[in-house]
Amino acid sequence: MAEIILEGVTKRFADGTVAVRDASFSIHDGELFILVGPSGCGKSTLLNMIVGLEEMSGGDLRVDGRSMRGVDPKDRDMAMVFQSYAIYPHMSVGENIAFPLKLAKVSAEETASRVSQVAEMLGLSELLDRKPETLSGGQRQRVAMGRAMVRRPKVFLLDEPLSNLDAQFRGQMRAELARLQRRLGVTTVYVTHDQTEAMTLGDRVAILRAGEVQQVATPRALYSAPANLFVAGFIGTPPMNLLPARIGDDRLFVATAEISLTLDERAAIDLPNGPLIVGIRPESLVPVDDAEAASSLRGTVDLVEWLGSELFVHLELGMAGLESPAALVAAGVTSSAGVQRLIVRLDPDASFERGQALR
Ligand code: ATP
Repeated sequence: MAEIILEGVTKRFADGTVAVRDASFSIHDGELFILVGPSGCGKSTLLNMIVGLEEMSGGDLRVDGRSMRGVDPKDRDMAMVFQSYAIYPHMSVGENIAFPLKLAKVSAEETASRVSQVAEMLGLSELLDRKPETLSGGQRQRVAMGRAMVRRPKVFLLDEPLSNLDAQFRGQMRAELARLQRRLGVTTVYVTHDQTEAMTLGDRVAILRAGEVQQVATPRALYSAPANLFVAGFIGTPPMNLLPARIGDDRLFVATAEISLTLDERAAIDLPNGPLIVGIRPESLVPVDDAEAASSLRGTVDLVEWLGSELFVHLELGMAGLESPAALVAAGVTSSAGVQRLIVRLDPDASFERGQALR
């Protein structure tokens, strides 16, 4: 059992940098929990505070109810796998995996049995006598995992463990890691800057930005109900379209479209009249024919990306005379110059050409 609870966890470095501010959430027993966010948002600092490599400047961190304040990393029963999975080059695979048990003075018999068990689980049984230099990146990754697993810790902490692998192999290792974690059922905290990795791996995900937790939720909830503009723009590939909009006279104006709202719809949109931002996922837009054109968005095809199973059409919307809300400009999703781009996911069998008008 290992449930981790963070209460107002803060890290202020000696130079005054606040890397993590007032983080409060819980990581449930047995879950694969992801910390994700852009470079420098405080992910590694948060992970280091959980494992005890960094001291908290404020707040508290409890594991199964016990405060970790002042508890030495080696007494926390956690194992960390780093980005540059440091395995010892002069030791064989077996010796590498056995190393933590040697340090803990576990008997030779017990060590042999645990190493073979872990090797079996990771598909390393045939490689136990090999030196790391003869292994592929993925196999080395598994050795590093094996070294963490052999101690049977309460918690695994992984800091960008797949970032050194090429894209195709990363996908494969990601699936392997997910299977392994589910099989072991050990509480795991996983740091990445890659939102796809976060979405595909995580039971739940915490999104950080500039040291502050933006939202903690399941991948589905992040996708369908982002808590704020940052999360809306961060999650999803391609990202959600964020468009300037306005409500007035029972109409919703979204960029160039004008949609009449029924009274019920107006009542359901719990917003005052005035400027707002509407988020539309690329798959939620469909081309319309002339009959429906009056209330549709209109644009010109700017770029076509065909991926075999998917087609993404980038449109430029004419925004003459429309002003972007300051929040959109500040978030970098649109320019104040009035050029608004839109990405639409369409049937891959359809064909579109640059310059074509679309609505
Ligand atoms: P990345 O994805 O690039 O590894 P990260 O999200 O893991 O980034 P951290 O490494 O946790 O971010 O850093 C968070 C912030 O704290 C950054 O602004 C960083 O420059 C700053 N920082 C990290 N370590 C120190 C330190 N020892 N002293 C001062 N500032 C630090």
